[in-house]
Amino acid sequence: MCGVFGIHGHEEAANIAYLGMHALQHRGQESAGLVAVDDGRLRRHVAMGLVSDAFDRDALAKLPGRTAIGHVRYSTAGSSELRNAQPFVFEYAGGALAIAHNGNLVNAAELRTELEAAGSIFQTSSDTEVIVHLMAKAREPDVLGKLTAALRRVRGAYSLIIVTNDNQMIGVRDPNGFRPLVIGRLKDAYVLSSETCSFDLIEAELIREVEPGEIVVFDGSSSKARGMVSHKLLEVAPPTFCVFEHVYFARPDSLVNGKSVYRAREKMGMRLAQEAPAQGDVVIPVPDSGVPAAIGFAKEAGLPFEMGLIRSHYVGRTFIEPQDSIRHFGVRLKLSPVRSIVDGKRVIVVDDSLVRGTTSRKIVKMLRGAGAREVHLRISAPPTTHPCFYGIDTPNRSELVAASHTIDEIQRYVTCDSLAYLSHEGMIAAVGSGKTYCSACFTGDYPVPLGQSDLVQLRRARL
Ligand code: AMP
Repeated sequence: MCGVFGIHGHEEAANIAYLGMHALQHRGQESAGLVAVDDGRLRRHVAMGLVSDAFDRDALAKLPGRTAIGHVRYSTAGSSELRNAQPFVFEYAGGALAIAHNGNLVNAAELRTELEAAGSIFQTSSDTEVIVHLMAKAREPDVLGKLTAALRRVRGAYSLIIVTNDNQMIGVRDPNGFRPLVIGRLKDAYVLSSETCSFDLIEAELIREVEPGEIVVFDGSSSKARGMVSHKLLEVAPPTFCVFEHVYFARPDSLVNGKSVYRAREKMGMRLAQEAPAQGDVVIPVPDSGVPAAIGFAKEAGLPFEMGLIRSHYVGRTFIEPQDSIRHFGVRLKLSPVRSIVDGKRVIVVDDSLVRGTTSRKIVKMLRGAGAREVHLRISAPPTTHPCFYGIDTPNRSELVAASHTIDEIQRYVTCDSLAYLSHEGMIAAVGSGKTYCSACFTGDYPVPLGQSDLVQLRRARL
């Protein structure tokens, strides 16, 4: 998964973009990058690691200009290495541009084969580069025309921010609107971001979301932003916003799809308490992502809420560790039980999702080790049965414990006294009706199918 940020028409563009990326750090921790445009020139700095490690004062000082775009990356397509770090910069006849992408294309392999056969030479293994090559090949004279032509060929999930050497900033959201993208205003400048939490940090005002299938262009001289023009260039499909952004991914202080992530999670917890009550003495969350759901569960159940697990803030998201051995160790590194809270108690543990089951198994063991008399696990989403093709990092189907095991079997594996998940209807009711969602990771109902070669490549990778 990734986070994207852009600012157009601000004298401290790179510094503000740095802050914006900081607020999006939860969306990707592998690499961070910034491109600023000044006097017709694009300057780029990318590095592996966290935003605060990737940039120092010197690096930011070398990125002058009033327009800048940034990217934080966690690889879901393409390997984790510097050459895949975004934004990418490329030159074409008549200009140059930089692009930052959140989401996964589902026909990238198909298009890549076609483009390579016609002579395109790829520099990276990222699916985003396909968009770049399609733009380079397009006959349309201007950037907007090239972009539209390219996007007509790609399928899947993309929220894009592009900046050109003539100081245009462009935001695009795919016709399904899988990934979020919001527009804000900071004095005279316009800002684009994956999430509203970055606007709160820089004190920008939220204007609205980029609509599915919409392209917004921010134009103007380098001294003052002239304004925003909206183009409805893509055939809009029925929107299928990613429900997992609400369940786990987005920050709880963000509004996604116009709704508070915190409140949606809290409601998931409340619904879960109604659907699957448990006999317990105390409700504890798996921090941080399980906190709002556990608060909702405790409120609804009329039970005390306590922080029975403490999270070390010096460890990243354990799920992300590539090697199983590290991940196993990682859970203990990241979470530790509070004996005074759980000793002798019937503990209800609330987490937002159970994927492989590794985390829950460790947690149950830790809680029993700290004296818990019973451990009842409640998951504030349905069983994760299918991988995501649209940009969320989920493992192979064979590693998804709910793909091949019943809830009873999972309970035995996790060794808890009872296990229950939130129903699909409960989850959708909690995020609010009125919008349609992609919940393929819970149902296997993929709104945009994979391309043929992409399917073949995926099967090969997962053998
Ligand atoms: P697992 O050990 O595989 O069952 O992982 C479950 C834990 O990982 C839960 O605590 C979730 O909050 C977290 N999680 C679920 N999905 C993701 C994801 N795509 N990226 C990072 N963490 C996740």
